[in-house]
Amino acid sequence: MAAKKTTPAVALQQVRNIGVAAHIDAGKTTLSERILFYTGACHRIGEVHDGAAHMDFMAEERAHGITIGSAVTHCPWQGHLIQLVDTPGHVDFTIEVERAMRVLDGAVIVLDGVRGVEPQTETVWRQASRFDIPRLIFVNKMDRPGADYERSLASVVKRLRGNPVPVCVPTEDQLVLDLVHQQAWSFTGDRGEIATAGPIPPEHQATFEHHRQNMLLAAAEEDDDLADAVLEEAEVDPEALLQALRKGCLAGRFQPVFGGSALRNWGVQPLLDGVLALLPNPLERPPSVAETLNGAPERVEMTADGSLVALAFKVQRWDGRRHVFVRVYRGRLAPGDKVALSGKDKVERVARVFDVDANAKKAMDSAQAGQICLLAGLREATTGDTLSSPGAELLLEPIELKEPVLGLAIEASSTQDEEKLLDVLAKLCEEDPTLRFDDDEETGQRILKGMGELHLQIIFERIQREFNLSVRAGKPRVMTRETVAGPGRAQCLLNRLLNAGEDDEILFKAQASASVRPRPRDAGIEQRVEPLLEPAGAHLNAAQQEAIRAGVDDAIGAGPVEGAPLQDLAVSLDGLTLFPEGSTPQALRIVAAQAVREAIQNAGGQLLRPIMAVEVAVPEENLGTVLGDLQSRAATIMGQENDLGQATIRGECPLQALLGYTTELRSLTRGRGQFTMEFARFDVG
Ligand code: GDP
Ligand code: MG
Repeated sequence: MAAKKTTPAVALQQVRNIGVAAHIDAGKTTLSERILFYTGACHRIGEVHDGAAHMDFMAEERAHGITIGSAVTHCPWQGHLIQLVDTPGHVDFTIEVERAMRVLDGAVIVLDGVRGVEPQTETVWRQASRFDIPRLIFVNKMDRPGADYERSLASVVKRLRGNPVPVCVPTEDQLVLDLVHQQAWSFTGDRGEIATAGPIPPEHQATFEHHRQNMLLAAAEEDDDLADAVLEEAEVDPEALLQALRKGCLAGRFQPVFGGSALRNWGVQPLLDGVLALLPNPLERPPSVAETLNGAPERVEMTADGSLVALAFKVQRWDGRRHVFVRVYRGRLAPGDKVALSGKDKVERVARVFDVDANAKKAMDSAQAGQICLLAGLREATTGDTLSSPGAELLLEPIELKEPVLGLAIEASSTQDEEKLLDVLAKLCEEDPTLRFDDDEETGQRILKGMGELHLQIIFERIQREFNLSVRAGKPRVMTRETVAGPGRAQCLLNRLLNAGEDDEILFKAQASASVRPRPRDAGIEQRVEPLLEPAGAHLNAAQQEAIRAGVDDAIGAGPVEGAPLQDLAVSLDGLTLFPEGSTPQALRIVAAQAVREAIQNAGGQLLRPIMAVEVAVPEENLGTVLGDLQSRAATIMGQENDLGQATIRGECPLQALLGYTTELRSLTRGRGQFTMEFARFDVG
């Protein structure tokens, strides 16, 4: 079927897919709201021109409240389309940030002008760097006493090893000095929606000159002609200047910086202009690297020609129906298209393709490389899947999924609701790949597993509020893994008559020997399943081969201490004796599993618990108390930095010792301490 031709409302060159990322409380939500408001306001002004009715302010606000919760929102600005991809700020939701980063073309990193770079800023910065995302910096909260633009830039250099280049500088009288166009912006109207450019006031001339020089020097390195002009102190064309800044920003050589206060409606519009001028459009992103199913690398250019390559990055229910957000990296997607879920041996059919703006779900004739869209009709495709043209399967680098580390028993308050709870949990898990639920075979409890306390708590609230289901929870429990304490070996003989139904009995006879040894932490499992066969000359058919592999897998699925999955060990099935009677595939699977299990028993099991990388920022006066408390939790302190009365402690700590720590830290620091943690590894602890 030939794809219908469509002209997108806005050419891709005019699109910017961006995300706003920040440490908690830096002002991400406030800034996003302002962006939605001003871009909506822009629309509103247009309508006023057309003589249409004035939109209700509150209705607008309410609508935005909803859009903020959606994955991607359209923000029209100056004839362009900014698509705001939502990224939550809390570390328990790194998966959300990670999957958003994957499909972003650029990012705005928000800093608190008083605090500068904070722990979570480092995390989002690292994620942005990992995917080569060009970024702008917005120094927010410049209205707060103690806010300091230059010091914030210094913290970007020091803590992120970034290279910030000022482009717009906020002043204490709530102007913004535009270093490129050599003018000063002021913001008036009820909510700062009227941005007016005027000359640089004389009292700000010195500040302006100082920052403009720095910007010119950075831009000059990108463009020889510009360098000459700067050297000769000649007039510099603002367009050429922006081009040079854009070049450096796209290449990741520096990050243009803006500033103001989202809350005070100060400095947001110049930032939006900066997004258009300095961040890339979807077609300017470097090619992605994918792999064929055989592991051969292939470059995927962002072009509408060629077979389909798209990444599913979020699953969400809408009106009770399953929708999958995808970013198209190559080719086109149209309703009716068959798509392969790469590497999963599965082909599905796309029923409909929608534009991503959540509140006005608009059907599209097709989507092409560079676009983000919403697909209906896919039952199996899930976060991280690459969608390809059938027969030309390629795998994009998968979205890194972290293993859940914390579990919680959960049950419906009333037994009639059990069914409904199962249904709700299945839905939630589908939307959030870091959430799982399992039945604990021993206790018969249903365990909900997630990334941390806050994560599970929010899921709990959603179950009660959104699905109107009353649930009870047990105490949180950390997930465990097991490994072996040392080397071990074993030999097993299976020689049994087993009942095969009716009056039939079959002989199971085989002998196996196995050995195990520990491997370094996080080295994973190494399996060797090439046993020396006896009698000499014997050989294994395909079914027998498969059976012994399955037997080894059975054995490493559960360790000897608590039955937790094993990791970090080498397992070898060393020998196998076959008997003409009784060495069936079933018998071989049993004996292989038994030999490995016994070898592990002999080696001795060792329990591994989640160890978290933690960062705690506290006022210096509380440092002693907080350090003492951390040590009492068996934390390993790895570093400490003091800056402007604030101490930042980095270390590692077992997760079980951190349950409830947020509350404890608050009381130790009278609410001023901040704490973030990230899973590091399973280890003895
Ligand atoms: P987020 O956690 O990054 O999304 O931060 P929020 O947008 O929720 O803001 C956290 C707090 O800081 C809220 O109380 C905001 O009102 C406040 N806030 C946000 N922006 C500013 C600002 O520019 N100036 C001041 N003084 N407060 C702000
Ligand atoms: Mg927020």
